[in-house]
Amino acid sequence: MRTLIRGGWVVAFSGGGHELIRDGAVVYEGDRIVHVGHRFDGRADRTIDAPGMLVSPGLINTHVHAATNARSALFLDATRADYFGMNFVSYQAGLRGAKQPPRSVEVDARFGYWAAVRGGATTILDVGIRGYPLDEYAALVGALGVRAYAGPGFRDAGYVFDAEGRVEWEWTPGAGLAGLERAKAWIAANHGSHHDRLRGMLYPGQVDTTTPETLAATKVAARELGVGIQLHAALNQREFQSVLRERNETPLQYLRTIGFLGPEVILGHCVFHAGHSWAHYPYADDLALVAASGASVSHSPSKYAKMGLALESFSAYRARGINLALGTDTYPQDLIAEMRLAGLMTRWVDGSFRTGAPRDVYDAATLGGARALGRDDLGRLAPGAKADLILVDLAQAHHGAVRDPIASLVECGSGTDVRTVIVDGETLLDDGRAVRFDEAALLRAVQTAGERIWRTVPEWRPKGQTVDDVAPMSYRVREPQ
Ligand SMILES: [Zn+2]
Repeated sequence: MRTLIRGGWVVAFSGGGHELIRDGAVVYEGDRIVHVGHRFDGRADRTIDAPGMLVSPGLINTHVHAATNARSALFLDATRADYFGMNFVSYQAGLRGAKQPPRSVEVDARFGYWAAVRGGATTILDVGIRGYPLDEYAALVGALGVRAYAGPGFRDAGYVFDAEGRVEWEWTPGAGLAGLERAKAWIAANHGSHHDRLRGMLYPGQVDTTTPETLAATKVAARELGVGIQLHAALNQREFQSVLRERNETPLQYLRTIGFLGPEVILGHCVFHAGHSWAHYPYADDLALVAASGASVSHSPSKYAKMGLALESFSAYRARGINLALGTDTYPQDLIAEMRLAGLMTRWVDGSFRTGAPRDVYDAATLGGARALGRDDLGRLAPGAKADLILVDLAQAHHGAVRDPIASLVECGSGTDVRTVIVDGETLLDDGRAVRFDEAALLRAVQTAGERIWRTVPEWRPKGQTVDDVAPMSYRVREPQ
């Protein structure tokens, strides 16, 4: 079936970069774009009129924790950055030996993916599946219709609280390599499935939770499987200091020393390079190492802004020749908001309104993500590219008059402006309506799952803390009489 989208602003790819076509036309047939231009005179089986819309390549969200968000992130993530800015420890860590309620693929994972789709993403990198039945996970990606790079997460150490509330790294000898074997088997079984929408990626946890042996074996496995790797690296002050103390190298120097860096590697966050103002370590040029290696950086500005931190800086990384992509990490899964914040934060860090241009952050959310994946058929609208695209409604009060639609999108837009999402030629969101499942039922289930985990907080937090101890309500609550 051939579909014509006409009217609106079309972001077309010219070979060198994006261009804007006013009142453009995009045609796709099956899973591929077949035409991008001002008009289309051929036959179409279906026509979508898009006046007032931005017709954009689907965004590439390179860092989503699809599985961990539905129930726990919102009550802990924003409010608990008290361990050297390591907010994630606050919801990932539990009391040693205690168990959190199990997560469900149907509620938690489905919500994580869907929230990212709603925010404009057509390709999602789900950073390490943990604690789920793996077969169900692959089936979910198939049923949802998203394009995903997924794989079981693995590492040698986990974060736990002791009874006093101290965070400890709990090492399990052999866990990383055993987890890598599971990941390899899952990727061998699922890579290329669901019409090649599901591809594998290797997700060793973090620099400070994996051994050099696990990272070296991951590198070999990536080569054998023909897949990429994403590793959380240079992600917080504690990791920076501990690696420096143990190895006399920064985390990024250490990764270079063990031969880990390379074009197939995406560094999750990569905030704490030696020149970051919180590092206080003016003895290395970490960004030069990253640039020379060809590794990409997945940047999640919102996650860091919540903790009072910024990448230093988006424009500096770009100037060094580092490929930048964007991700949403925990919540909200709104990559349009993330673009705006990436631009604003770099202006603040640089002390200049001349950096953080909408074009630069939009490139990161499209072409930068595609380059990180080694894909020349994603993140662009051009004949032969995948039919992954979104329609964004710019004819709204918060946009006002639209002259430059990319500037409008980045400076004024929101994930809720995304009206239609098409992946691989299949419509997943049609004029604001989920096509493939009952979204209202999912959101009810998410609320129920959240309320369940909030009740269990004293079972897995130190000293019997309740949810109100961990995340006090904004105001006193008056319950119904
Ligand atoms: Zn992450």
